[in-house]
Amino acid sequence: MEKIKLGNTGIEVSRLCFGTLTMGPLQRNLPLNEGAALLERAFSLGVNFLDTAEIYGTYPYVNKALTIKRDVVVCTKSYAYDAATAEESWRKAVKGIGREFIDIFLLHEQESEHTLRGHREAIEFYLKKQRQGYIGAFGVSTHFIRCVQASLKYPEIQVIFPLINLSGVGIADGTTDQMLGAIKSASDLGKGIIAMKPLGGGHLIGRREHALKFILGLDCVHTIAIGMQSIAEVNYNCAVFSGRLPDESDAGLIRNQKRELLIQSWCEGCGTCVSVCKSGAIGLENGKAKVDPDKCVFCGYCAGRCPQFCIKVI
Ligand code: SF4
Ligand code: SF4
Repeated sequence: MEKIKLGNTGIEVSRLCFGTLTMGPLQRNLPLNEGAALLERAFSLGVNFLDTAEIYGTYPYVNKALTIKRDVVVCTKSYAYDAATAEESWRKAVKGIGREFIDIFLLHEQESEHTLRGHREAIEFYLKKQRQGYIGAFGVSTHFIRCVQASLKYPEIQVIFPLINLSGVGIADGTTDQMLGAIKSASDLGKGIIAMKPLGGGHLIGRREHALKFILGLDCVHTIAIGMQSIAEVNYNCAVFSGRLPDESDAGLIRNQKRELLIQSWCEGCGTCVSVCKSGAIGLENGKAKVDPDKCVFCGYCAGRCPQFCIKVI
């Protein structure tokens, strides 16, 4: 599989980034060895880049994977907003992943210039870690066009992890073309671009071929993160990203995949999930949470915040 420079960061990554969210406790919750086996298979097919985040609960899988292959590029994300929360997230990442050095450290789900300003202390903490040699590159992940645009003003934001896909599912404040315009400006400035949710969190599974062709055809996108839950998915994506035709057996196994957000009956209607969801996909009805499947991108972030543990992406 082709490797590519991630903008001006000096980091070289495979075009396919293995998103670990889908194997972890917010989604499929695979046993540790099964998750590690998927990662090992991806490594054998040329993947060298893993995406995780504090909220995903997938550090144990990454830790295990790094015992199989040490020279993997790891990207993680944190919701830290001040120096104390930034340090706490840092410690969790280093301990959980089992490495003193984190290749790419991002602030998770940034929205705009205002949220970037509000997280300044955390940004300063991670930039200091970078100067000390513990972080390779710093950046942000976002579902918002206005955050990508705001990042253009900040040279210290070296990597952007924006949501982009064929039909614009999940882009919080505009269209695919508008997001692409912002991403192109960022890429032109030398920022590394990691595309998020090329399959719209599952909505584009039925148009997988078109969706992947679209994202792979974008020169302004360096690498593309896809969550994978089975060997067939790993085989399929690695084949497409390597310019090979996927085996029909793998394609057949993943053809009828469907994603769903389950809300268990013991929901207490506290509304935490409603405030967490940036896609406006979940609301309260008759005192219980109710999801709009057309808007949900199955990120599972609401599941990670539910105090009753009653949300699951399957
Ligand atoms: S956070 Fe959990 S308990 Fe609260 S409304 Fe949402 S699903 Fe229900
Ligand atoms: S409802 Fe939950 S899983 Fe769906 S988009 Fe919102 S936060 Fe993500």
